[in-house]
Amino acid sequence: MASIKKIGTELNWDIEKKAIYGNYSGFDVTLEQNISYGNSQNNFKILYIPYNDITSATAGVLNGYLKANKKELKLALFEVKQDMLIARLGEGLKGINAERLKEILQLIVSQFAQLSIETKDTCAYCNQEPVDAIAYINKIKLPSHESCKQNAIANVQAQKEKLANEPSSPLGYMGAIAGAVIGAIPFTVALLFNWYIGILSILTGVVCYEGYKLLGGKVNKTTKYILSLISFTVILATNIILAYSIVLEYDVTLNQVLNNVGAKEYLIESVGMSALFGLIGVFYVFSRIKNDEHKIEIT
Ligand SMILES: [Zn+2]
Repeated sequence: MASIKKIGTELNWDIEKKAIYGNYSGFDVTLEQNISYGNSQNNFKILYIPYNDITSATAGVLNGYLKANKKELKLALFEVKQDMLIARLGEGLKGINAERLKEILQLIVSQFAQLSIETKDTCAYCNQEPVDAIAYINKIKLPSHESCKQNAIANVQAQKEKLANEPSSPLGYMGAIAGAVIGAIPFTVALLFNWYIGILSILTGVVCYEGYKLLGGKVNKTTKYILSLISFTVILATNIILAYSIVLEYDVTLNQVLNNVGAKEYLIESVGMSALFGLIGVFYVFSRIKNDEHKIEIT
């Protein structure tokens, strides 16, 4: 499976971090690499080819052609929009390389020619021509006006600041607490049965965030700190439960447990490991929050 960087180098396209940009028969083409560290099924390439607005009849014909030739075109999924074709490439065993990408593009642009679909030369924002700038909107290369682009950047910025300062609801925090407690259950049960599986404490932070979102919690600039605090409080509480379970099991006092070398080591290890894996869970949540925060990106 060729990387987009390799494909871009072979085709002499512009190479950016997660996308490459070229021109095929006059059409600007963006090929984006979607990367998911958690799910290899989500590692795929997406092709974006903008064009001037087409009628719904033309879109219907194009859609029919793509559907009928899905296999040959190596399309896993696609969407014919009014002003752009978006296609997720199915790599299969052979994968996509520069040669195959050229074959795919050749088939697509000859279909465009038959349907009189034209290169996009109008502004991505106001749909007027002539354009005087290029905007990369969510990594997709599009023609635009410098003034329209600057306006859009300012709007996105204002929107981000508004969201970052929007207070969240108490219900959201209740969801976070409930989520953290639910997320801590597998870990607590494992501890009480003496199956030491510290990795389960990752779930505390993850389910905490799920609970927060489920009950309508808004992601603002304090969210990750508050959710971290909730997760670690619950992880700490789990360890306190563990200490008391030893107290009950051996019918001793907490002081006796803490003064027993073996029990003390066991508790310290439990606190350390659960805090460590809890931290990994919290970092995972941080990356999810980052994804949820930055929906629109313009450069
Ligand atoms: Zn414009």
